Amino acid sequence: MDVSEREARSKQAEELVPGLVDQGVVAVAATFVDNSGITRVKAVPVARLPHMAAWGVGISTSFDLFRCDDFITGPADGRAPVGDLRIIPDVRRVVPLAAQPGWAWAPADRYQQSGAPHPQCSRLLLDRLTHSVAEQGIAVKCSYEIEWVVSDGPGDDFAPGVVGPGYGVTRLVGLSDYCRDVITALIEQGVDVEQFHPEYAAGQLELSVAAQAPVEAADTSVLVRSTIRAVGEEYGLRTSYSPKVDVAGVGNGGHVHLSLWRDGQNLMAGGDRALGLSETAEAFSAGVLTRLPALLALGAPSPVSYLRLVPSHWAGAYVAWGLENREAALRMVTGSTGSTPWAANLEVKCFDLLANPYLLMAGLLAAGAAGIAKGAVLPEPVDIDPAAMDEQALADGGITRLPKTLRESLDAFVADEALTSAFGSDLVASLVSVRESEIELFALASDEDLAKATRWLH
Ligand code: GLU
Ligand code: MG
Repeated sequence: MDVSEREARSKQAEELVPGLVDQGVVAVAATFVDNSGITRVKAVPVARLPHMAAWGVGISTSFDLFRCDDFITGPADGRAPVGDLRIIPDVRRVVPLAAQPGWAWAPADRYQQSGAPHPQCSRLLLDRLTHSVAEQGIAVKCSYEIEWVVSDGPGDDFAPGVVGPGYGVTRLVGLSDYCRDVITALIEQGVDVEQFHPEYAAGQLELSVAAQAPVEAADTSVLVRSTIRAVGEEYGLRTSYSPKVDVAGVGNGGHVHLSLWRDGQNLMAGGDRALGLSETAEAFSAGVLTRLPALLALGAPSPVSYLRLVPSHWAGAYVAWGLENREAALRMVTGSTGSTPWAANLEVKCFDLLANPYLLMAGLLAAGAAGIAKGAVLPEPVDIDPAAMDEQALADGGITRLPKTLRESLDAFVADEALTSAFGSDLVASLVSVRESEIELFALASDEDLAKATRWLH
């Protein structure tokens, strides 16, 4: 980032300040998501926004090595505490926060002191990969579904904050004001909410938002989660996005929806391949399908993720794809007759919300691009729960279980040339360091201890 770019950003921010002040904004929080999936923040008074937009604020390089419990992993060479980066908010997305009066939020990128992009900044990585896919004439639209549970009061034990059957209106009535305030806050913040419902597990709710370009969608995922948490605070409800809040129950997923577009046409509809995919969409999807074990190191990034990722829980625990198949990791959604040209998309179900959404989408784009480069093809779609198939049928269909541990996923990630070369060696090294350390941290933990230790972190 050169001086003229800094001046342009400062000017853009200056233009925003009076409007923000009018809306009562006192301070602006700039966030980035680390490799363990935790959203970290630095804030400035609103008058300092132009300065921060141009020059950023300091942040240690060691955040690339933060574990979910704030332990700093990494080389014992004494360099971890040395060096600084700048986090620079994206002034195009400054949002006054409806559920945190006086605050605005902006997603941030991390730059080096020289003004060069930090090679391990996940948001800048996703931006780069989005551009490289765009160079092939492909625009990606995506969204992250958000599932969460609410717990009554500040206690560490999970006490469902609402009772009633899954999908039951009882829950909506029980938390009527809270649910309304979540939706209102998001709409006020410019989030295009598409749907809301009580989910299956105890105290669980779900919200989906419209698809956007990758970086914007990942930003929205951060904003939505933070907003839900803030509204919960007002109602004495604690929020958890953990994939396994309660060992006995169904988990929280973080399904990703993806569609590819060229010249305004949805490449996931009207094509001559299975289920209406175009050749490009098939190749992209096949690149993702074959790399799902490796992608789990990004999308199911904690040992606790693997407590959720089991058959018969709609988590998509098999390497398979199929039309509206909730037990296949890739669930093709073609929409209703008449809506297919705009609605068709691929839902990747096996991921959860401990994922850094920027890293995860970067992985998906790199996997899809590798599939396109290779002209990859998909196997036959699967129209039955793989858990109901016998060994022979699974083998005939090439259907396997996804990794059952983070260890397996991490090994697959490290061995995947397409992903590691897209991420670069420094980022890969940091990711491996954090994942290895979390594996070690929880190596001896029981399922209950693991769920308890990770329940309120993200
Ligand atoms: N809660 C399920 C999961 O862990 C997903 C349920 C659904 O299909 O919406 O992914
Ligand atoms: Mg759901």
